[in-house]
Amino acid sequence: MEISALEKTSILIEALPYIREFYGKTVVIKYGGHAMQSCELKKAVMQDVVLMHLVGMRPVLVHGGGPEITQMMERLGKKPEFVQGQRVTDAETMEIVEMVLVGKINKEIVAEINRLGGRAVGLCGKDGMLIEAEKQSGDVELGFVGQVRKINPEIIQTLIAEGYIPVVAPVGVGPEGESYNINADYVAGELAAALKAHKLVLLTDVEGILADKNDPSSLLSSVEVSKVPELIQAGIISGGMIPKVECCVRALEGGVARTHIIDGRVPHSILLEIFTDKGVGTMVVP
Ligand code: ADP
Ligand code: MG
Repeated sequence: MEISALEKTSILIEALPYIREFYGKTVVIKYGGHAMQSCELKKAVMQDVVLMHLVGMRPVLVHGGGPEITQMMERLGKKPEFVQGQRVTDAETMEIVEMVLVGKINKEIVAEINRLGGRAVGLCGKDGMLIEAEKQSGDVELGFVGQVRKINPEIIQTLIAEGYIPVVAPVGVGPEGESYNINADYVAGELAAALKAHKLVLLTDVEGILADKNDPSSLLSSVEVSKVPELIQAGIISGGMIPKVECCVRALEGGVARTHIIDGRVPHSILLEIFTDKGVGTMVVP
């Protein structure tokens, strides 16, 4: 497809109001799912982040990494176990989680952003006490699966002010200095709230919230916070979509202006969301 010079300029001009609206604003992006597996999609996400940064936005990336943790456990001869969709995390598993998320995935993302012309710094919840955590409450014993107790966003604010792109691995620190494995969606929601971010964007492997999980054409383009409990009760929102929608709710309560769950399988879905008015997923609204 050949695009004429005139079309190119009009595309740029179309972005102008969005660039103006978001100039200087913090946008928290949760990066996970398929967008992390494919090289092409990975690069597209990083390009979007670098572009956002270069036009004056302040992106903050939070990443997951479940499949890679599973692969590493298998390589080390340890059998991954899940209860209600959550990884049973004994001390040895926690060590692997931390090595993969903080040591490997986090640094790969940082290197890729830097290669594409951004300046990224990788952190986990231990750096600057960013994520204080505690053992997740509940009836099932999951070991070192944690929940956010408190976010200390100062280190992120410092990095942002100095022109860096923070990249956060969802590992929290407990009162004894122990590590906790936290769902990256919750970290993104809490961090967006603590930073009073303008926008929270969650990338996932589906179109957004679907009225019928098995029907991609049943996308709900917006969902009101007040409708969320009944959608979960009715089983319409289930599994991995629950933390996502809960994290949007939490972020909205915490003062984040806009929250979106978008399709990370679409190349440059972040740019589509931010620079055009074509909605590309579900917006969770107050
Ligand atoms: P991620 O790696 O992005 O965190 P998850 O697998 O944890 O992905 O969560 C997304 C999954 O949630 C979807 O693949 C889908 O199977 C499930 N899901 C449950 N309810 C819904 C719904 N109403 N709409 C879309 N997806 C849903
Ligand atoms: Mg998930």
